[in-house]
Amino acid sequence: MQKVDIKAMNRAQLTRWLADELEVGPTRANAVFRALWQQGARTFGEMEGVGRELRAQLEPVAEIRSLEPEIELASDDGTRKFLWKLHDGHTIESVLIPDGDRLTLCMSSQVGCAMACTFCLTGDLGLKRHLTASEIANQPLQIQKLLPEGERITNLVLMGMGEPLHNLPALVPALENLLDDHGMKFSHRRITVSTVGLVSKMGELAAALPVNLAVSLNATTEAQRRQIMPITKKHSMAELLQACRDFPLPPGKRITFEYVMFRGFNDSLEDAERLWGLLEGIPAKVNLIPYNENPHRDLKRPDDATVKAFQHWFVSRGMSCTVRTTRGIDISAACGQLGRMREQAAARA
Ligand code: SAH
Repeated sequence: MQKVDIKAMNRAQLTRWLADELEVGPTRANAVFRALWQQGARTFGEMEGVGRELRAQLEPVAEIRSLEPEIELASDDGTRKFLWKLHDGHTIESVLIPDGDRLTLCMSSQVGCAMACTFCLTGDLGLKRHLTASEIANQPLQIQKLLPEGERITNLVLMGMGEPLHNLPALVPALENLLDDHGMKFSHRRITVSTVGLVSKMGELAAALPVNLAVSLNATTEAQRRQIMPITKKHSMAELLQACRDFPLPPGKRITFEYVMFRGFNDSLEDAERLWGLLEGIPAKVNLIPYNENPHRDLKRPDDATVKAFQHWFVSRGMSCTVRTTRGIDISAACGQLGRMREQAAARA
């Protein structure tokens, strides 16, 4: 009999399963949940606050899955990249980014990605498979356990490998466990899900969880976006922006529009003006990401003055517009560089 992946369930599912399977009540179910998501128990034997008898009953029917650490790289700027091996041999990456009093973890949601954005190296892999809920939530859980006492991951961004909205059935329970008061207790204000714009799934995410939404827009005309983001053939940019207008945002919240800037492609002031027009009527902020160059693409990042001028266009009109600093470039941990670590490690050897 296949054992149940106990960390793939949210607390309600776990409670129901324990009741049905082992006639365990909600109080003891909560204790099991806390042992998994607060203590980070790797075996039933080491679970604290759970009776010996229940631990023994769980052993034959369930398993606690963990990610196997394969390589960890540290950048000169303090960024750390973790390569994890999954039970079937696939690998995924997570990136930990210290920035002032923030410690942000950039997490993966899939092995590879099906979206095939032309500029993104993860896209080259294609979609190998979806991550399970336990594989998604284990990234912050296991990294938190590696940190020294008193150091805490403060923010989670689903901006690693994969398209999170393409894997909602696993993403939702994973985030529920990270948010849960008996779990990792993250605030929903500190979790951001980034999407290429899977219009059909945006409402579903909002209905399930009140987390922050980021949309990778990256272009200002339909033709331009079609060139670099194939998803535009399925959902036009107009349709995406309408979905953003319809997105049920809590008061005071805004959608972040990520805009990767490519030299001579989408970095002109005409682009800035068009982008401004596109965002009309949407509570929005803009995050500019100067393209991270790499040997696998001819694309170039604009010079700093061009990025600054683009930013100024928004800021001078009262819209929040930040420029994402490139972090972890020396360890290929920057945006769009994930998924090539094996190659890189081989090249170093
Ligand atoms: N699939 C989701 C999550 C990935 S987030 C999404 O697309 O939003 C990765 C972010 O990095 C996206 O905004 C993407 O457009 C951007 N990106 C990808 N490759 C990049 C590169 N080489 N340089 C800068 N940003 C890049």
